[in-house]
Amino acid sequence: MSVLSAPYMHDEAAAFAHVEAMLWADGPVCPHCGVVDRAYRLEGVRTKPSKKNPEGKERHGLWKCRECRKQFTVRKGTIFEESHLPLHLWLQAIHLMVSSKKGISSHQLHRVLGITYKSAWFLTHRIRECMRSGEFAPMGGNGGAVEVDETFIGNDRTKKPHGEKKGRGYAHKHKMLTLVDRTTGCAKSIIVDDLKKSTLIPILRENIAAEAVIYTDEAGQYQKLADDFAGHDFTRHGAGEYVRREAPEVHTNTVEGFYSIFKRGMKGVYQHCGKQHLHRYAAEFDFRYNNREANGVDDVERGKVALVGAAGKRLTYHQPNQ
Ligand SMILES: [Zn+2]
Repeated sequence: MSVLSAPYMHDEAAAFAHVEAMLWADGPVCPHCGVVDRAYRLEGVRTKPSKKNPEGKERHGLWKCRECRKQFTVRKGTIFEESHLPLHLWLQAIHLMVSSKKGISSHQLHRVLGITYKSAWFLTHRIRECMRSGEFAPMGGNGGAVEVDETFIGNDRTKKPHGEKKGRGYAHKHKMLTLVDRTTGCAKSIIVDDLKKSTLIPILRENIAAEAVIYTDEAGQYQKLADDFAGHDFTRHGAGEYVRREAPEVHTNTVEGFYSIFKRGMKGVYQHCGKQHLHRYAAEFDFRYNNREANGVDDVERGKVALVGAAGKRLTYHQPNQ
């Protein structure tokens, strides 16, 4: 059966049951007083009658806390709270975002789901926030290999290209650093202000275990990394070396593979992206990469992982950025 025909994609009561099962493994959690599994369902409650709905609309997923006597739904305190869109549309949007390898734009979501562009823009940014994972354990524990590379994206409008001809140079581009743990197959991308050694090395120390072996290209800022980690080796791209012939483990092909998906996605789907949102796009691509088929996560499972990230991540900004 296609996941698109699952009841929770169409039926509001089923959507609530699905999200409740995901977020409340130990029973309903009262967002007002924090008590777990001390609430009961309020069945058959309807909204006030309106012209459009003379009998009012059914209020799905309504609970009442036995401790503080307050009412709540599973939307409270999650990314779903501030939007009035039905929950099953949220689940459709999450599915589309987690299952499209290169992502899906707010414009396309607006057309596919039949919601306004503004709503679609809210949805995509909030779903991206679900994908932002919490703290990772440092990469490369137990002496594992970690690949490190950096890439340039778009133009940083906060920086003027000093004396550069149009389309040349990197000073005015956004810069992203990515680490890939070869053992877990997981990536972590970080937007950085510059590629100076003094910027990059503290990030590597913070995110990579000291017993790891690091693979990079020959860029100068990575020299002397062997002082901080168990080992460091690099390929000489400038000399045409992409894999060391006598030591085939010396390469950065995994992280470059990650960048090829990221770049195709950012170019084709997300044409303009301000720096203030870039970390969310990076998180989105990290999320899909880390929860990919090769890591044993299918589309349905990926949607569930994103959903669990929905708890406790409300965004407060309100203006679409264009
Ligand atoms: Zn309560």
